[in-house]
Amino acid sequence: MRTLWLRFYAGLNDFLPARWKQRTFKLGFLGRPTVREILVQLNVPPPEVALILADDRPVDFDYRPEEGERLSFYPIFYHLLPAEPLHTLPPERPPRFLLDTHLGRLARYLRMLGFDAEHLPDPDPGDAALARRAGDDGRVLLTRDRRLLARKAVRYGYFVRATSPREQLAEVLDRFELHEFVNPFSRCMCCNVPLEPVDAEAVAAQLPPGIRTHYTEFYRCPACGRVYWEGSHHARMQRLIDQVVRGSGSSASH
Ligand SMILES: [Zn+2]
Repeated sequence: MRTLWLRFYAGLNDFLPARWKQRTFKLGFLGRPTVREILVQLNVPPPEVALILADDRPVDFDYRPEEGERLSFYPIFYHLLPAEPLHTLPPERPPRFLLDTHLGRLARYLRMLGFDAEHLPDPDPGDAALARRAGDDGRVLLTRDRRLLARKAVRYGYFVRATSPREQLAEVLDRFELHEFVNPFSRCMCCNVPLEPVDAEAVAAQLPPGIRTHYTEFYRCPACGRVYWEGSHHARMQRLIDQVVRGSGSSASH
């Protein structure tokens, strides 16, 4: 049995019941659990934890706290860390994502804005395969399943708080500071493959009447052959961008 004093900072409080938020609380644990086991018991995703202090000295996930120790947990997005973090954001900018099965709409929205957002909906690959894929590929696993993020194979992961796809998109853009990388018309919404510019001549047969004379720039997905042009998703995309990207954090007007 271990009795420990615990304190979670910033966004990690999202995972705690109200009585434990933003304060130090005392909790008893059976046996001599590791820090990782404590996090999993409390349903806090380890990939969101950047730093753990045990009585003010940094420890890792395998550390087994002593009786009466005080543990402090800091998230990745907390910028004033007092020591070297265990986790950071992926080094590449923008990061590449792998989305959980249930986040298909968010995956399409991210691709619409040009981000590499892999999604394996069918057949459902299962938690073990998703975690391994994200870890092996160095992708950030986006999910609303905390147990999936508790798997050791997940290196970079983030629990998406919002439930509506548009709010999820705004949340991911904010958390990963992606606004400067938004690049519409660069990736197929269905296949997640970069689009290639193509001559209007080459795709004339695939275009609705009148489109060819109204637009000059066309793009094609090399995987599925789908053709994109400014008119095809432009109005819808522009509305989304206005709402989510430009309007983030303030009123939607600009
Ligand atoms: Zn495609």
